[in-house]
Parts: sequence; structure tokens; C-alpha cells
Amino acid sequence: MARVLFLGGLGRSGTTLVERLLGELPGVCALGEVVHLWQRDLRDDERCGCGARFSGCGFWRRVGALAFNGWHNVDVDRVHYLRDAVERTRHIPRLATAVEAPEEVHEYAEYYSRIYSAAHEVSGARIIVDSSKHSALAHVLRWSGEIDLRVVHVVRDARGVAYSWTKTVERPETDGAQQMTRYSPARSALLWTAHNAAFGLLARRGVAVRRIRYEEFVTDPRAALADIATFAGLDVTPADLDFVHDGQADLRVGHSAAGNPMRFTVGRLALRRDDAWMDALPLRQRRLVGAVCAPMLRAYGYPLNPLEVAR
Ligand SMILES: [Zn+2]
Repeated sequence: MARVLFLGGLGRSGTTLVERLLGELPGVCALGEVVHLWQRDLRDDERCGCGARFSGCGFWRRVGALAFNGWHNVDVDRVHYLRDAVERTRHIPRLATAVEAPEEVHEYAEYYSRIYSAAHEVSGARIIVDSSKHSALAHVLRWSGEIDLRVVHVVRDARGVAYSWTKTVERPETDGAQQMTRYSPARSALLWTAHNAAFGLLARRGVAVRRIRYEEFVTDPRAALADIATFAGLDVTPADLDFVHDGQADLRVGHSAAGNPMRFTVGRLALRRDDAWMDALPLRQRRLVGAVCAPMLRAYGYPLNPLEVAR
């Protein structure tokens, strides 16, 4: 049975960074955001983290062959129908309280478990990482009997997340044709609260969930990685962590199928806490986000007063 480490949290919380570093550990195979594979890779043939088009990547070709007897056998319309039917934030209360999930939940989860199992076999890795982030997908995967699901819930200060969502970011895999989505601070504050609460609910349903704070992860990535490895049941030696040193990480080529542009980074990556929001997010917006997110910011140990966190 494939052991799946699902990286959850609202976008712009640092999940791609966590995934890239985890992917360097022996025995770990990082797949990127599998939730986007159906459209961006099967339909649009965007680039894999290795630089090849999805259809030209040998790793993913082998995974598709094993999982579905070839990707051409996947009915993407059906996957999208199932996603709309079951993988929605508004369905989480039902998914979390149901005694038995509807058949469509199992059918949707099986598309994912097949990919995980095939990646497990093709890579020989003990741990498969899916950084799909979506809380609703984690609630769906909870019902799969085919995987050993463990969730790493990545949280970041809501004001840093809000600032990041206001910025314009290109999507290199579309060769400049598209930019990443943007949200207003008010909108991202609401999303931040809803998504993070959903992971708290998942933990109360008996799923193994480990919460980490982006800010702490970046400050001491070696300790954080060792901690996550223990949570995942993976033995790592100090030497296994030597790719992280002096505030940087040495990254090799990966096969992340979809996600943040950082998945294309190869070589040296500087590990710096991104605190740009402290100067750049206007005080009014900082207060708004702080007020909306106050209960959970407090629960996660973030200071509420904007003056306390201002430089
Ligand atoms: Zn690839």
C-alpha cells in the first residue's frame, strides 16, 4: 500500500518549497499538485518539473501505463464531473460527518490512489508526496482504502499569504500565456480561515495530520524536514539532509506534474523567510486580514497586533 504524504494548506503558504525539499530525501517521490494533472497535463500537455512536456516525460509515461494502461484510458470529463460533484469546500462538512461516503467519492479517490500506487512502484520510493493543497481533496482521500494517508498541514501568517495573492506571478509552463490567480486580501482572508479550519476537522476525524508553520520551516529547514520524515515513518540520517546548508538547498531535477513555478528550480535555492508583506501590505489591509483571521492566527501562535509584527 502506498504511503501518501499530502501537503495541505491555502495556496502561497509555502507548500511547494516544503515539497521540493522533501523530494530530495531518499525514499521520497514528489509528484507535484496531482489535482491539476487531469487538466494541465492530460488535456493541455504542460511541462513537467523535468522540463519535458507531460506526454514526453518517461516517468509519467510509466506511471500512466501502470495506473491506467496508458493515460489515453483516463476519461478526463468523468474526473472533472466527479471533482465538481465531490471535491468542493462546501462538501467538507458532509464528507467529515458521513458514516459511509457516496460511491462517487470512492470513484474519484480511486483515480488518485491508482496514480500514487503506480508512482510508488515506478519510483521505488516508500513515500509519495502530493502537494495538491486542497482541503476538500484530503477529505475525499480519507475514504480511500488503498492508501496510507498522512497530511502535513502547512500554515503561514495570513497577512503574508494575503500579500502574496495580490502579486502578479507568471506561469512559465504556459510559456508566458497565463498568470497565476490573484485574490483580494479580504477574499484570501476568508479562504485562509476556511481551508485551515478544514484541516483541523480532518485531524479530528482520525487522519494523521501534522501542522507546520512556514516561518519555522524556513528558519530551520533541517530540523523541520527531520520532523516531517519521522511523522512519515521515514528514517533519515544527518547526511541525508546535507543538501540543505548555510541557508540554501541544492535541488535536483524532479517530476512535479503541476504547481508553483518553483517546481522548475534546479540547483541552488536560497531559503529565506519571505516577509515582504511586513513592508508592502498596506496597514489597512493588514488590519482587515488580521481581524478576519484573528481566532486562528492566535491558535497558531502568530502575533495579532500589526505593530508587533511590523519592522
Ligand atoms: Zn518529468
